[in-house]
Amino acid sequence: MSDAWEPQDGPSAAELDAADELAHRRKDFVLDGPDVPADDGDGDGSGGVEGVVYLDGNSLGALPRSVPARLAEVVEREWGRLRIRSWSESGWWSAPERIGDRIAPLVGAAEGQIVVGDSTSVNVFKAVVGAVRLAREEHGEERDEILVDAATFPTDGYVARSAARLTGATVRAVPVSEMAASAGPSTAAVLVNHVDYRTGELHDLAAVTAAVHRAGGRAVWDVCHSAGALPVELDASAADFAVGCTYKYLNGGPGSPAFLYVRREAQGRFDSPLPGWTSHADPFAMADDYVPRDGAARGRVGTPDILSMLALEEALKVWEGVDLAAVRAKSLALTDFFLARVRTHVPPGMLTSLTPEEHRRRGSQVSLLCQGELEGKAESVMSALHARGVVGDFRRPGVLRFGFTPLYTSFADADRAARALADVVLASRREA
Ligand SMILES: *Cc1c(COP(=O)(O)O)cnc(C)c1O
Repeated sequence: MSDAWEPQDGPSAAELDAADELAHRRKDFVLDGPDVPADDGDGDGSGGVEGVVYLDGNSLGALPRSVPARLAEVVEREWGRLRIRSWSESGWWSAPERIGDRIAPLVGAAEGQIVVGDSTSVNVFKAVVGAVRLAREEHGEERDEILVDAATFPTDGYVARSAARLTGATVRAVPVSEMAASAGPSTAAVLVNHVDYRTGELHDLAAVTAAVHRAGGRAVWDVCHSAGALPVELDASAADFAVGCTYKYLNGGPGSPAFLYVRREAQGRFDSPLPGWTSHADPFAMADDYVPRDGAARGRVGTPDILSMLALEEALKVWEGVDLAAVRAKSLALTDFFLARVRTHVPPGMLTSLTPEEHRRRGSQVSLLCQGELEGKAESVMSALHARGVVGDFRRPGVLRFGFTPLYTSFADADRAARALADVVLASRREA
């Protein structure tokens, strides 16, 4: 370890951890570190590889400790013994709306507006087509443009272009900073990522939505990188549709189903492009004609993926009693602390932060662009970090991403990650 580490200005990681009101939540997760015993080999998931600092919860959230037992119960009892009876007796049939209502307070939504199921990609399709149809119903068929966040996560762009072909609209890529000014009389819908997955920049949900509404369009928000990471004000911002992942900051597990928010005011006229029997008003009538249900359930398609969904439901219990303002405060403190540590110890000109300094424009990750002597080395820097027990990820062309999940990331983690990063960078400089 380099001597450059001491002394350090400001409170130490240990002092910050001691004052952290969310620190006790960490024990609800399966993680490594000094406060969790190393894997004792009994297979109960306690502990793990000694000392890994996990900063990739923005890609796959860590496992909440109570999920394995709940999943075993679902498999053994609900599936194994009750079998078909579980659709009613174990509440399987209504799980998509029930779990939607559990997510609702985390994204500023009153109940009855969120349904869980399918992937983010599929829900983006439902929402974009639904938004175009709504705008046209209100303002006429000449609304023929879909504005898409120019820096969007790729799947949203692919889906939007296909949705445009199907609805006879065109797609225009627009930077989010220009979205409000670009919405006009031909805008049917806009599709915006609340937090940019590459840079961690947070966009203004309320302001962009208001501008789109003034132009007569409908706004679809992708909240994959904000749900569970910071307070999201869907109702207060008047967002029309929102779609989010549950396997990132909501820790639902690999491939856990996404959620779809349809604002109450729009629900009665939401014409889903993927109507299925489970969103029919009377599904067991097995009728020829489709008559949609009312409410959030209108976003359902086919049979829900029960195992993933019930793992998610259990995972969401870690949020009981959590104050999102505290989550936000800790997220900003963690990212500030990490950035300051990196800035102090990494020589200038090698890593540039793409993550906004301003708190109101920052999500819950830090993205560092490899430059100068580090240009073209992002992948090898990240694999050297992995070898030192620090897990982040990288995105081409040269971005190192570090996700800070406030419920389980400590300041000691951030400190260790910054130290390891400085060591790796200095080592690569010596090799060069
Ligand atoms: C992670 C992510 C997705 C993923 O979509 P899936 O359909 O779940 O694979 C979509 N959009 C954004 C912004 C994401 O960050």
